[in-house]
Amino acid sequence: MSKKYAVRNIRLCTKDCICLYVCPTGATDTEDSIIDVSKCIGCEDCFKACPSGAISMVPHVYPVQQEKEDYVINVLNNLMRSKSKQENIASGIDGRLAKAIEKSNRIMAEDLIREAGFLLPQSENTIKLLNELLKENKSNDYLKDKIEELLKLIK
Ligand code: SF4
Ligand code: SF4
Repeated sequence: MSKKYAVRNIRLCTKDCICLYVCPTGATDTEDSIIDVSKCIGCEDCFKACPSGAISMVPHVYPVQQEKEDYVINVLNNLMRSKSKQENIASGIDGRLAKAIEKSNRIMAEDLIREAGFLLPQSENTIKLLNELLKENKSNDYLKDKIEELLKLIK
């Protein structure tokens, strides 16, 4: 099996359909526009042919997450909180500049969360966070079920 498969970013796709013609397995030709991973052999033909840069090749197995010291994670978390605060402040101000600041702070906060290891569902930080939330929410049946479900899915 190939080590990677193709994914299509629907927002970038200009629907010119070149990928439908070059794909040797028909993986790109689906009703819902999502490339069929089970058919993809990772040949990269669609990725090279797409004029809109809408197709990316994604590895089946991601590299092991780089270890981060606790103090680095704390710094990233503090920075992320400050970006969230700035996003909230900007969201209360009218005008295009404020909207741009709001959006840019949101993107930076998301990057920081990812860097701290919380956006990769398989990351140790995420599993640790979910286990902590589980302990804190033992009496809330709804949340407890949802967290347990997430933990099962990640494993
Ligand atoms: S070649 Fe690219 S732009 Fe064209 S349909 Fe395929 S993904 Fe969309
Ligand atoms: S990588 Fe190859 S097999 Fe996979 S969807 Fe693209 S063209 Fe088809």
